[in-house]
Amino acid sequence: MSVVTRIAPSPTGDPHVGTAYIGLFNYVFTRKHGGKFILRIEDTDRERYSAESEARIFAALTWLGLTPDESPDQGGDNGPYRQSERLDIYKQHAYELVDKGTLYPCFCSEERLAEMRAEQKRRKQPLGYDGRCRNLAPDEAKARLDAGEPHALRLKAPLTGETNFKDELRGLVRFANADIRDGVMLKSDGYPTYHLANVIDDHLMGVTHVMRAEEWITSTPIHILLYEGFGWEIPHFAHLPLLRNPDENKTKISKRKLNTSLDAYREQGIVAEALLNFLGNMGWSMPDGREFFGIEDMTEQFDLSRISLGGPVFDLKKLRFFNARYIRELLSLEDVAERAEPFLKSAGLTWDDEDYLLDVIDILTPRVETLAEFAEHDYFFREDFGYDAKARKNLAAGQKYLEDLEREFARLDSFDEDSVDDMLRDYVQSQSVGMGKVLQPLRAALTGVSNSPGINELVSVLGRERVLRRIGRALTAITAGLPDDKPSAEENSANKGDKSSEAA
Ligand code: GLU
Repeated sequence: MSVVTRIAPSPTGDPHVGTAYIGLFNYVFTRKHGGKFILRIEDTDRERYSAESEARIFAALTWLGLTPDESPDQGGDNGPYRQSERLDIYKQHAYELVDKGTLYPCFCSEERLAEMRAEQKRRKQPLGYDGRCRNLAPDEAKARLDAGEPHALRLKAPLTGETNFKDELRGLVRFANADIRDGVMLKSDGYPTYHLANVIDDHLMGVTHVMRAEEWITSTPIHILLYEGFGWEIPHFAHLPLLRNPDENKTKISKRKLNTSLDAYREQGIVAEALLNFLGNMGWSMPDGREFFGIEDMTEQFDLSRISLGGPVFDLKKLRFFNARYIRELLSLEDVAERAEPFLKSAGLTWDDEDYLLDVIDILTPRVETLAEFAEHDYFFREDFGYDAKARKNLAAGQKYLEDLEREFARLDSFDEDSVDDMLRDYVQSQSVGMGKVLQPLRAALTGVSNSPGINELVSVLGRERVLRRIGRALTAITAGLPDDKPSAEENSANKGDKSSEAA
């Protein structure tokens, strides 16, 4: 049997991290078995549908490299892949199930149903359809259908017994039929509800393995009843553990507690490989216990039996830790620079020399955890940076050193790190002061901040021209009295978050 899987997101709101998580597991499972991975858009909820949201799902999956084999974008043999374009298919199949006795027409009006619900609430009865139309005489139902009376189609759930299914991860999952409601499968406006459309599509698209989140387990007995009604083969089901908020009760991941938008992570400069690697560790582990692995490794080793069901926690600190490792070690410098470029450009930063960019990225990687953080070190790319409060203080205290260093740097033959280091050491010794006394004003002059890479690296990357220009600018500022200026309240609070100045 050749494996066919799918993800079936609904295009509402932001593209969700859960889609990436479920997408990843479907993707590696499919690749491992040489199968086909389908993207279907479940857009039958027209009130919540958004075309923009659909486009963002496509873009997010492309960003992550979870490319489907068939999708609304690419097409394929089993299209259309948008449920709103398949309404005739659902209708035709739904009436087949009426003939087979799995569904029945319900002629109850909205008002009648509202009254019924109000009454159930008043009597503190369980809510749900009371079955009035289930018991219509077949002739009457047929006559009303033939007369074109508005109606929905409901599931005729068995009243006794059990509906069970085998979950690949959980074993036999059992449901008492008495708990299954006669839910609407086809609405009176001709739109299917989730269950009907989902089952018809999975069958017609040849899906062999339904791998989805745990929250759909309670829908599955309804799906089983539909499969049985049609007389169709039931696919394999694997309900993956839900991602959890990092709170005490490990509640289901939710946007109130955590950013669940894939776009937000991309915009924060999380790299796709790191996010996938992080998600790959959610409930799954490599046989050798290694936490860092690429999607190819995961595919090679993937086995459903290695999924553990304890709720995996979406821990942002861990995600950043993974991201930092990708930026610092696992991606090449050129690759990181290429990915950082759009972040720098959108912050309005420019450079003419690609080698300079590579040098900057290289010395910054130990100091950033996300691609967006590169742009915080804007002083590499502009000469008009401001001086923060600490920098002003350091400048004020360092005028003499800066004047001397301006001469020393002008004289220095080579700007490699060692030569800079030797010169600075000699100079500091000659002054009989601590390193910091000299280096802090220098750092302030070169960057305007106190959190920057080490001085030798910094000087060497900036190069003579920039270093001299910046020292000159700082000295002018000092003489113009700038360091005495009261920093604005805004600056003050911005500086509170400063990391303590690195002892150079
Ligand atoms: N449309 C459902 C969702 O939004 C699909 C669930 C399933 O995979 O069956 O996740």
